[in-house]
Amino acid sequence: MDSVRDVLALRRERADAAAEARKAELLRKIPGLAGVYAEIAAVIPRLLSLGVSGGEGYEQKSEALHAEHENLIKKKNALLAAAGFPEDYDLPQYFCKACGDTGFVGGKVCRCVKEERAKIAYYASGLGKALEGQSFDTLDLSYYRGTTSGGISVRKMMESLVEYCKYYAKSFTPGAENLLLIGGSGLGKTHIASSIGKAVINKGYSVVYESAQGLVDAYEAVRFGKDPSADTKRFTECDLLIIDDLGTEFCSQFTLSALFGVINYRLMNKLSTVVTTNLGFAEIESIYKERIYSRLRGEYKTLVFCGEDIRRIKRDSE
Ligand SMILES: [Zn+2]
Repeated sequence: MDSVRDVLALRRERADAAAEARKAELLRKIPGLAGVYAEIAAVIPRLLSLGVSGGEGYEQKSEALHAEHENLIKKKNALLAAAGFPEDYDLPQYFCKACGDTGFVGGKVCRCVKEERAKIAYYASGLGKALEGQSFDTLDLSYYRGTTSGGISVRKMMESLVEYCKYYAKSFTPGAENLLLIGGSGLGKTHIASSIGKAVINKGYSVVYESAQGLVDAYEAVRFGKDPSADTKRFTECDLLIIDDLGTEFCSQFTLSALFGVINYRLMNKLSTVVTTNLGFAEIESIYKERIYSRLRGEYKTLVFCGEDIRRIKRDSE
């Protein structure tokens, strides 16, 4: 929360400083404005002292002062407009209009704070910058064309697959089923997996996204002392782990056992995992051998991506 507070405080400071600079510019350019500002400033202490004294005719007096204040603001606005400036030129332009970058609206935490927290969680998850443009909303289903070898519309199949993933993300709770996203390269598996990650983060759960290579690198760094501080706990502690592109990592006895360790630990502890891969089941079995294969086959729900390579379609149509 502290870092979110820092972000908001910085935004507020910048907006206030920029407004002060614009106000100084206005004062240089508009004669008579300083006087109006002084009048506006004088209304507030009068309102305050009225509140303290209270007594007879309080409401009428208070109303009159409010009306006076309103008229002065109108006068100020008119001066700005006559000089060719927008009426709010002297006011701070806060990043969040709802809360004025204070983080609170009517005593409740503002939406912008939640968004900012989610953004921090995106970066902590490893999804980072790429994720800002990748969500279910930015997925273009028109790139899924043609029919499968079984004569079924690729678009229809992918639509229902995407719906399933949206539902999965929306209803996610820790322990939700594991998913294996399988299919050729350029079919949007990473996009869908990231979108699931983003949606689950937005629900407030911890998500870690890592390529299969990144994952085994981290275990190697710890095991072989290259970087004993490398963080591997995050793979076993998060609510949702996304292992992207299984099959592209360098394979050795060590990497196989590291992968098995993570996959098995998460199954044993009912922690959800999403794996994407370009490999087919036969390849998975031959590369990863029975113990990883049987877990992916038996304990993960398989979602098969079909269609043509979207990156190639995009390239060709440019
Ligand atoms: Zn806000």
